[in-house]
Amino acid sequence: MTDWPALESRYIMHVTERLPLTIVRGKGARVWDEEGREYLDFVGGWAVNSLGHCHPVVVKAITEQAQLLIHASNQFYTVPQLRLAQLLVENSCLDKVFFGNSGAEANEAAIKLARRYGQLKLDGAYEIITALGSFHGRTLAMVAATGQEQFQKPFSPLPAGFVNVTYNSIGAIKSATTGHTCAVMIEPIQGEGGVNLPDDGYLSEVRAWCDQKGILLILDEIQTGIGRTGSLFAYEQYGVEPDIMTLAKGLGSGVAIGAILAKDKASVFAPGEHGSTFGGNPLACAAGYATLKFVIDNDIPGRVKTVGSYLIQGLAKLKAKFPFITEVRGRGLLVAAEFKSDIAPSLVMDCLKEGLLVNQLKPNAIRFMPPLIIGNGEVDEALGILDGALSGVAKG
Ligand code: PLP
Repeated sequence: MTDWPALESRYIMHVTERLPLTIVRGKGARVWDEEGREYLDFVGGWAVNSLGHCHPVVVKAITEQAQLLIHASNQFYTVPQLRLAQLLVENSCLDKVFFGNSGAEANEAAIKLARRYGQLKLDGAYEIITALGSFHGRTLAMVAATGQEQFQKPFSPLPAGFVNVTYNSIGAIKSATTGHTCAVMIEPIQGEGGVNLPDDGYLSEVRAWCDQKGILLILDEIQTGIGRTGSLFAYEQYGVEPDIMTLAKGLGSGVAIGAILAKDKASVFAPGEHGSTFGGNPLACAAGYATLKFVIDNDIPGRVKTVGSYLIQGLAKLKAKFPFITEVRGRGLLVAAEFKSDIAPSLVMDCLKEGLLVNQLKPNAIRFMPPLIIGNGEVDEALGILDGALSGVAKG
C-alpha cells in the first residue's frame, strides 16, 4: 500500500496537521479509507458537504454540465451562473450576486465593494471594523480582517484599513467607528473562533448603528449560510438584513464556489472594477444550483433545526454524565462541546479509531458540522461513539 504520509511530506507544503486517515470515497454522511473502513463524517469537509458526499442531485448536475460546458469566459452569458444568481436573490434579502471560487475570495470582493461604496458615497471612507476571534480567510487582507493574532503575526505588515474589536460588544463597534469607517463585517455566529453565538440583540444593534452612520453591514455567512444553522441564512434568525453577504463552503456541496450578494444600493461595482477568471463557471454554478434547489425544495433548514436540537440535547446528556464537559453550544448543525482541559486532540483520535470524524475546534473543544442531510440515527451513532471515547477519558 502506498505510504501517503511520506508522499505528502515529500511533495506538499506542510501547512496542515493531518489526521492519519486517507479518504478515498464518500457517500451521504459516510466516507471510506483505502482498506474499505467506514467512518461517520461529522466534519463534512469542514462544513462544506452540505448534502453529504456525492449526493445524486449534485453528481447528476455536474456530470451533465461537464458534458455540455465546463468553462467559458465571463465575457459571455452562461446559463448555470444566471440560474444560480436568480435562485440566490429570490431566496434572500439581497439583490445582486458576484461569483468567486472560495470564501476568502468572496470576502475580498465584499471588502472591495465596501471600499468602493466608501469612495462613492462616504467621502472616501475605507476602514472596515471586524471582530476579535473572527475568521474571514487566508489572503493578506482577510488575515488583517481576521481578529486572531496567530493568523496575523507571521505575515506582518498587514494591509491597512481594518480595525479588530471585541465581539458581542456594540460599544466596541461604536467606539471604533470614525469618519473613515465604511463598513462593519461580522460572522453572525463565529465558526472558527469557537462557535461563539451572538448575545441577544447584538446583531440588531449593529444593524441599527450601521443605519445611523450610513455605513454598510457585511455578514460573512460562509460557514453559517445554506441551512447550516437551521435557516437558509443565519441572519433570518436574528431579524437583521445585511447590505452585503458572503457565501462559499456549503453552496456547492463540495464543489469550489464562493459568492457575494449585495443590496442594490451597495452594488456599486462598475465594469472592470472586479472580476474572476473561474468565478461563476458553469460547472461550479451547476453544483451550486443543484445544491441550493435541493436545500430549498426539501426544507433542509427545517430538518437541520430538528436534528440539530436532537444533537444538542444528546450532547447535553453527555455533559450531565461527564462533568469535565463545561459547555455545549451551537445552532442547527454548527455545534461545539468544550472541556475543562485540553483533551480534544486525544478525543478526536479516539473517535477516529471508532469510526467517527469530529473536528478539533480548540485544544479544549470539539466541533460538529456534519452534512445537513443526517437524521437522528446518525446522531445516535455519533453520540454512542463519543460516549465511549469520553468514558475512556473519564477512566484516565
Ligand atoms: N469566512 C468564514 C466564516 C469561514 O469559516 C471561512 C473558512 O473556514 C472563510 C471565511 C474562508 O473560506 P475559504 O477557506 O473558502 O477561503
